[in-house]
Amino acid sequence: DDTSAGRCVAANTNQFDEQTLRPAPDSLSIIIPFYNEAECVDLLLDALLPVVRPLCDTIEVICVDDGSSDKTGPFLLNRCNDIPELRVIRLSRNFGQDAAITAGLAHSSGQVVCIMDADLQHPPTLLPDMLNAWREGSDMVCMIRKHRNDETPFVRSAKSVFYWIMQRICSFEMVQSAAHFRLMDRKACDALLCLTERSRYQAGLYQWIGFPTTYMEYTPDQRAAGSTKWLLLPMLNRALRGIISFSSAPLRIWSFTGATIACMAFFYGFYIVVKTLIFGIDFPGFATLATLILFFSGVILLSIGMIGEYLAGLFEEVKQRPLYLIYETRGFEQGTTERNS
Ligand code: UDP
Ligand code: MG
Repeated sequence: DDTSAGRCVAANTNQFDEQTLRPAPDSLSIIIPFYNEAECVDLLLDALLPVVRPLCDTIEVICVDDGSSDKTGPFLLNRCNDIPELRVIRLSRNFGQDAAITAGLAHSSGQVVCIMDADLQHPPTLLPDMLNAWREGSDMVCMIRKHRNDETPFVRSAKSVFYWIMQRICSFEMVQSAAHFRLMDRKACDALLCLTERSRYQAGLYQWIGFPTTYMEYTPDQRAAGSTKWLLLPMLNRALRGIISFSSAPLRIWSFTGATIACMAFFYGFYIVVKTLIFGIDFPGFATLATLILFFSGVILLSIGMIGEYLAGLFEEVKQRPLYLIYETRGFEQGTTERNS
């Protein structure tokens, strides 16, 4: 990269050996998805801007309004008048957090890109430390949530099971409690934008692309205002999408299940024939029969359902619809250009 040293000064840089560090970035993009977060617009921008402005000369704060039905969009557009660094992208409807973040990434031009939530659960005060980790050579600085007290024990254990499964089926490292809160180099951002798949499990894609990664722990703050958008059903959907988009194990498991059951059936059949030959015909056995029929109907339906999930995913890809549609943008006239779109 053709960055000239010392153009911008990151906080706390004097504690590092400047020789081995990357020069401070030329430009920094912050990407924030908003879905019905009207109360958070002012809270977030007022907390974020004083932290990022000293970090870099050229910054852009890209707020993506993911089809909010409340006043989020107008509030964001309104702030464009007094914040020159603000860029707003409004999607034509709610496309989901992953699509909203992808829209932000595609419109970002910074040498360093940071993604964070709108609800202030991702503390902006950590940005200087994240940027320092980038200066030390990481292309991806991934923030790991220490604990969340807004989660029920059920949700927490369900998430642990999900990550246990993911770690076993993925060929790359999946880290629990690492989600969207991260800072990355332009290289990593461009790599993410190369992945054109429609049904995106973004948390997996971040890990899939690789690149030298630093993990940093953080304690999430309470939600500043509003309520969580991730209820149980969307969360389950997302978990299933995660497993399906990174593994074909749920498809192949049925061959092994089928083979095992067929073997067992063969031995059981053999046993029944021998028993009938020796002891004669024995009528009772309805309970066994009913149980077996119910059990195998369940197994068969489950396996067909699994194939259906992959087929649906395939259909989604084949349709080649865009990941999101933009209704309007504001603030991009200020000199930044849209990339990869
Ligand atoms: N979000 C979004 N589109 C959605 C759902 C959520 O852009 O369909 C945004 C939301 O506004 C927030 C972030 O994604 O900035 C994380 O959502 P939330 O705080 O509800 O999730 P949680 O922190 O509870 O996991
Ligand atoms: Mg949140």
